[in-house]
Amino acid sequence: MSMNETINREKHYGANYYKPLPVVISKGKGIHVWDEDGKQYIDCMSAYSALSHGHCHPKLVTKIQQQVEQLTLTSRAFYSPTLGKFLQRACELTNYFGGCPLNSGAEAVEVAIKAVRKWAYTVKGIPDNQAEIIVCKNNFHGRTTTIISFSSEPQYYQHFGPLTPGFKVIPYGDAKALEQAINKNTAAFLVEPIQGEAGIIVPPEGYLAECEKICRNNNVLMICDEIQTGLGRTGKLLACQHENIQPDGILLGKALGGGMLPVSLFLANKNILDVFKPGDHGSTFGGNELAANIGLTALNIIVEEKFSENAAAMGDRLMHQLKQIKSPIITDIRGKGLLIGIEIDPAYHAARDVCLALLENGLLSKETHDTVVRLAPPLIITADQIDSIADIVKRTIEQLALK
Ligand SMILES: *Cc1c(COP(=O)(O)O)cnc(C)c1O
Repeated sequence: MSMNETINREKHYGANYYKPLPVVISKGKGIHVWDEDGKQYIDCMSAYSALSHGHCHPKLVTKIQQQVEQLTLTSRAFYSPTLGKFLQRACELTNYFGGCPLNSGAEAVEVAIKAVRKWAYTVKGIPDNQAEIIVCKNNFHGRTTTIISFSSEPQYYQHFGPLTPGFKVIPYGDAKALEQAINKNTAAFLVEPIQGEAGIIVPPEGYLAECEKICRNNNVLMICDEIQTGLGRTGKLLACQHENIQPDGILLGKALGGGMLPVSLFLANKNILDVFKPGDHGSTFGGNELAANIGLTALNIIVEEKFSENAAAMGDRLMHQLKQIKSPIITDIRGKGLLIGIEIDPAYHAARDVCLALLENGLLSKETHDTVVRLAPPLIITADQIDSIADIVKRTIEQLALK
């Protein structure tokens, strides 16, 4: 079948809310993928950072094959052997008391919202239905109707109302704004340590630590969305650890599923988790035995194969080489570890045109908004492979400068 046929079929039958680059990926191994014609690419997109382990990591492949023959799903009407072990490992690595196992990232965010609201009413003593959650401008926490209700991006919420009330939006990177926004009804502050979908926006140094202090002083819970930044991506296991903070709760997802399954967690302290009683929440697939095995294996690989350390070293290496590229097309290069954004001057090219040119040269990436090219390769990447990425980017930018 030709690549065009495949593309047209997906376009025809799939609702049209994505705008994929024109390539059909049919095989993946490590940092590489191949299209239907056999052309090889380096994957610098990593499925929006969900493929930190690379494609088809051998330990995950073995684990998933073994487990599908043993037991996949019981529902949580019963106990299963691995869920407790998975949660225990996640808690030990992150210093939390316990957690809620879910599937998608957005689901974990939803549960966090429910938890902090119930905490606000039953512990803090906020009058019923008055709780406010403070969030940041240009946030991205997922696509459910409640989550888009506090998005500041019109395309994400327009015509999807009525929207869920109870959220207050403040500028990102401005701790003073947080302090001013807090009132007696504030339950929590929900924030990304680095804003990923907004275009790899790194807040000023000390911002998260300052926010943590403000939350503590005001009996407001701080919840960090580490779905994209967590599990080694930014050079530490959690991006929060760059500022030595321990928020009241965190969200994990994406790479937690090892690129195989949707696996997410809301991890939190005891005082928050204690609000949940049997029947308060549920998810048919949340914490299933197959997912728990993959999540546990994914976590073990992240530690054993030193993803955080590698992301720090390889991120520095890539950043250093990218910064050598002198071109008016590039107006900024920023990020932490292996979460890097290249800001493209729209007077020259749209970020999508750069991504199309990179694709031509054998590198997969995707624009975020109109002006940012995201580079987030798998965390198993080696120094030689980093150098290849830098070479391809340099060559592509040079070619584009001539156009
Ligand atoms: C991707 C992402 C989500 C949503 O995760 P899904 O699995 O797509 O629902 C939430 N928060 C952040 C920061 C993300 O990057």
